[in-house]
Amino acid sequence: MDERTRQLVADDHRYVWHPFTQQQQWVTEDALVVERGEGCWLTTTDGRRFLDGNSSLWVDLWGHDRRELVDALHAQADALPHATFLGLTNPPAIETARRLVDLAPDGISRAFFSENGSSAVEVALKIAFAYHRHLGDDRRDLFVCLDNAYHGDTLGSVSVGGFDPFHALYGPLLFETRRIPSPYCYRCPLERSPEECDLACADALDEVLAAEGHRVAAVVTEPLVQGAAGIITAPDGHLRRLREICDRHGVLLIVDEVATGFGRTGATWASELEGITPDLMAVGKALTGGYIPMSATLTTEAVYEAFLGAPDSGRTLYHGHSYAGNPLAAAVASANLELFVAEDVPAMARAKAEVLADALTAFDGQPHVGEVRRRGLMCGIELVADRGTKEPFPAGLQAAKRVCDAVRDDGIIVRPLGDTIVLMPAPAMSDEDLRFLVTTIAAATDRVTRELAAPPASP
Ligand SMILES: *Cc1c(COP(=O)(O)O)cnc(C)c1O
Repeated sequence: MDERTRQLVADDHRYVWHPFTQQQQWVTEDALVVERGEGCWLTTTDGRRFLDGNSSLWVDLWGHDRRELVDALHAQADALPHATFLGLTNPPAIETARRLVDLAPDGISRAFFSENGSSAVEVALKIAFAYHRHLGDDRRDLFVCLDNAYHGDTLGSVSVGGFDPFHALYGPLLFETRRIPSPYCYRCPLERSPEECDLACADALDEVLAAEGHRVAAVVTEPLVQGAAGIITAPDGHLRRLREICDRHGVLLIVDEVATGFGRTGATWASELEGITPDLMAVGKALTGGYIPMSATLTTEAVYEAFLGAPDSGRTLYHGHSYAGNPLAAAVASANLELFVAEDVPAMARAKAEVLADALTAFDGQPHVGEVRRRGLMCGIELVADRGTKEPFPAGLQAAKRVCDAVRDDGIIVRPLGDTIVLMPAPAMSDEDLRFLVTTIAAATDRVTRELAAPPASP
């Protein structure tokens, strides 16, 4: 390791606290200090190159050096880096709102900007709650969400989350919700099978709303893929069923497309795959192509209009951050959305997903691969100690993390979620890089998991 890198790592270990990271483990590991990007490859300060197999945590669409996005950022920085969006507006934010509404499912007509996905969800929750009050219905103080849900890290979005490793600790701080089962077919919470269940997990919503629907402000869901709980892929029709049940009970549906949006599933939106329009929709992650933070809460004119009234009507949406509608972020978002349409990212993603599907056969028959799940370019490989019983590896072994650590030596960066290895290649990744990514991880998975499962060598 060169001297500069050594110093940077020492300072990182001394001064920094990383997200979703056990720092006690982090400071014992070899930190990668990345400083350059070329396509889907990242280069570290000590000159090593790594293929970014998770689109930098699901944000990147184009690789890390797409000229048009960098140029848009430079041009906007020369003109105006920031001015408040409270009481002022700016061209790139207006343009981004227009492009988002054009791209969104039919019936979506408004965009409210924040900087991250958690806030976009938080805003959707506050809008849904206030919407009913503005219509004169003040009984609706409950949200319905799914087990295994992840909607971000602020306390509102944690309240509608359902993934215990991240959320259980904060239980006493969270607002009340009702939970319905996760569409986790590999470990069906209802012990049914996709062939005969007729989406019983979604129909559980009907029972909840029949009992307490008059108290429910909205149902919140990740559409078709529960990302952070391990890329849990729901069967076709699951989201549509939730929409139908919400409609029957007059309850709003909030769809969190933060991870699934912008082509990741092979369509612009997962909602599009299911032919539905949400009442509220959170978008983020790839909104700027993965270059700069920005998110938005999108909604319909019907919801928007409930907030109209005289200045003293109490209907103003009192929410907004210092950097809302930031012109730098919006300039990149607008350029990204222009490219997204011009280059047909969903078609790119579908073509790439075929390459991915083909490469994934390298996992077939591995003794410790429980399930390979995929929707478009969102893929999870769940490791198990025993394929027959689906018994997990002991959590302390960190089986999937060991695989992810092992492929660092091959020049690959991926990150696990529990014992699921996540692959989320950018649509722009080359076929060759994608095959290298998958076959290398498959080989490492076989090697590492067999070692973990092997009985200790006799003396
Ligand atoms: C990542 C994610 C979020 C949170 O977005 P942040 O930008 O990390 O706050 C919310 N919902 C889903 C579905 C996500 O995948």
